[in-house]
Amino acid sequence: MEIETAQAERKPVEIEVNMVGKVDYDESRVRTIAAWVPGRIERLYADTVGVRIRKGEHLVELYSPELISGQAEFLQALQSSRQGGNAAGLLSQSTRDVVESARDKLRLLGLQPEQIRTIEETGKVMDHLTIYSPIGGVVIEKHVQEGIYIQTGQPIYTVADISRLWVLLDAYESDLPWVSYGQLVEFFVAAYPGRAFQGTVSFIAPFLNSKTRTVKLRVITDNREDLLKPEMLVHATLRVRPDAQGQMTMPEMAGKWLCSMHPDVVADGPALCPVCGMKLLPAEELGIRTNPSPLLPLVVPASSVLWTGRRAVVYVRVPDKMVPTFEGREIILGPRAGDFYLVLGGLQEGEHVAVKGAYRIDADLQIQAKPSMMNPQGLKIPSGHEGHSMQDNILSGKE
Ligand SMILES: [Zn+2]
Repeated sequence: MEIETAQAERKPVEIEVNMVGKVDYDESRVRTIAAWVPGRIERLYADTVGVRIRKGEHLVELYSPELISGQAEFLQALQSSRQGGNAAGLLSQSTRDVVESARDKLRLLGLQPEQIRTIEETGKVMDHLTIYSPIGGVVIEKHVQEGIYIQTGQPIYTVADISRLWVLLDAYESDLPWVSYGQLVEFFVAAYPGRAFQGTVSFIAPFLNSKTRTVKLRVITDNREDLLKPEMLVHATLRVRPDAQGQMTMPEMAGKWLCSMHPDVVADGPALCPVCGMKLLPAEELGIRTNPSPLLPLVVPASSVLWTGRRAVVYVRVPDKMVPTFEGREIILGPRAGDFYLVLGGLQEGEHVAVKGAYRIDADLQIQAKPSMMNPQGLKIPSGHEGHSMQDNILSGKE
């Protein structure tokens, strides 16, 4: 019987996980611009959805009687403070308090400090309030029309900064051992075939979707080039090099510090996140496994493993035999990595296992009613002794 064999060896292998998903807005970069005062919308500068706006650009002109009376109060307080100075030119505390509270009120009504200064200097009441955009981005929703009256807090526009986007991926339960916060993800979109985009896993949902049986992963990606658009479909790939224990590690993160909100912010020591200002934390504190076992994983070709689902068996060549002799052995199998399986126990480095002929050996054993993978007990033969022929194996002893 010609049986091809392969050596169980330690070498780096890669697990590839493929997922699908879609591009979405970064929720932390979506703002609703609302009215701070009740009033009538005189003008909407961004007149259609999709319009690009810069940070600080004017968006809305509002006519607000409340604002006009607020300004009048402010000017009155200023005037009385100017007249009310004592001989030394100093204002009483109470006069100053009145001016400051009138100024605060204007701020709360949504006026910018520069606008309040202009009112103070010119003594003129502005009859329209201009609302400026707090962020740069695109208008993704326009909630009102020109000419209508709105109340405080009523949304006018929703603006999204799309220079950073999310990619939402669906991971199967079985993929979860290979996913980690801070992990790099490569993805592709139909609009730019062949171009690999990159992102970083920033969130792994703490629950499964009961319908799809998948877990949502959130990936942050830079979109300053403006190529990605929300709702684009994405094919993503994660590549993991498992360690000898068959676990995911990210040794490149050892000694690194990350933001718990922005995993793409990585530093060599303690620092503040430039995006959100939070303190960076050591990678290990964020659940990232950085210390792999010093050994490479022990692997055998996937084709050498016979599976029943519960048990994994390989046929190991017995050394120092003139005639090729194999023994079946139950091994502790780790994850599959491409064309290999990791072996976590039951096999030594350097041992040879049957590769393509493994099924033939097993079939042969079944025909002879000897213990095999499909029938680990073999036939109970009352003679009570077991020979040591080619197909005898330690499998029966293990059961
Ligand atoms: Zn941050």
